[in-house]
Amino acid sequence: MGTKKDPLYEKKVREQYDQWVAYSRGHLEQMDKVLPKPRVDLRETLAERGISRREFIKWTSATTALLMLPPLFKPLVAQAAEQFSRLPVVWLHFAECTGCSEAFLRTSYPNVDSVLLDTISLEYHETLMAAAGDQAEQNLQKCLTDFAGKFICVIEGALPQGLDGNYLRLGPKGKTGIEIGKEVASKAAAVVCIGACSSFGNVQAAKPNPTDAAGVGEVLGIRTVNIAGCPPNPINFVGTLLHFLMFGGLPALDGLGRPVWAYGARIHSYCERRPHYDAAEFVEEWGDEGATKGWCLYKMGCKGPYTFANCGKVRFNDAVSWPIMGGHGCMGCTEPAFWDTMAPLEKPIDDKTLGGGEKTVDTIGMALLGATAAGIAAHAGVTAYKHMRQDDRDETSPKE
Ligand code: SF4
Repeated sequence: MGTKKDPLYEKKVREQYDQWVAYSRGHLEQMDKVLPKPRVDLRETLAERGISRREFIKWTSATTALLMLPPLFKPLVAQAAEQFSRLPVVWLHFAECTGCSEAFLRTSYPNVDSVLLDTISLEYHETLMAAAGDQAEQNLQKCLTDFAGKFICVIEGALPQGLDGNYLRLGPKGKTGIEIGKEVASKAAAVVCIGACSSFGNVQAAKPNPTDAAGVGEVLGIRTVNIAGCPPNPINFVGTLLHFLMFGGLPALDGLGRPVWAYGARIHSYCERRPHYDAAEFVEEWGDEGATKGWCLYKMGCKGPYTFANCGKVRFNDAVSWPIMGGHGCMGCTEPAFWDTMAPLEKPIDDKTLGGGEKTVDTIGMALLGATAAGIAAHAGVTAYKHMRQDDRDETSPKE
């Protein structure tokens, strides 16, 4: 097995990346032939909204890194963004509050993500389209026929299964959510669940769950991409569609159907309050000295240590802030059944909920304090070693 500095290994990695780039370029060319004509010219739209080419290039770099792709994919991310408005999307609403759509529509000033979401080819979206009743139904049927196998089915909301699905009947024909979900999903290229409701059931599925609600994948028995969160971050949706446009398939998913690039690490790992956790500095009550100093919110019920999501990295509201930055602990909304397993939201999880195996937060904090000190020493050693190696190379290598 090669190592990172092994030239043979690096050559093989480069060859592998070149193959992926060639594949992606071929796929984008193919999409260019089969997708409907562009609805808008992205460059013109960005210019109209006051977004410069330079900002678009910066966005391309950031999105490429977020998608865990090497920099040589940047031109392909830009190319996929230009095709974004051509991908037909059918957006269904089941048992939910429309908060995810609201989150996607809200923006205080234009950025590339919001422009992409504005230009998306929404063939059917119950709360945004002008059509209603039979006309809306006809639009849906037309889309299912015209774009069979090519459109993305986006689903917002859980599916109630009780009374044979009769807790949720929709549209002029009064079909159940389950019937509509089966019909549309069976003709889609992919099914993307937006939000905690369609992903895992969310509050509708919380105990005692009177309507027997559950996530779409579970109820329909299909594979879905779960953009979990209440609401999710729009960039996680945009990135998933860009990946689809670039590679013709879904990104790598974790065991819960969430894209690994967005949900592969814990909130706790990227939290700006983490140094205070490691130093056992906790907010003990709202408004205390620790709260004013931005200390860790674990004792105030933060569920960041148990929650996988990129909120701290990408933030919300045009990347201005996110709940923990605003002073509120993470409530674990990207995890299944978080209303039941993470409650009460204002207190740490009871040790018994986790099988009694957890140490108290003070013990963890103090233990980490020791581990952190050892880590700093180790890091300093590694850094010094790297500098030594660099100095060696500078003296012995020919200048490039
Ligand atoms: S417990 Fe919460 S506030 Fe504290 S470091 Fe972890 S994620 Fe951040």
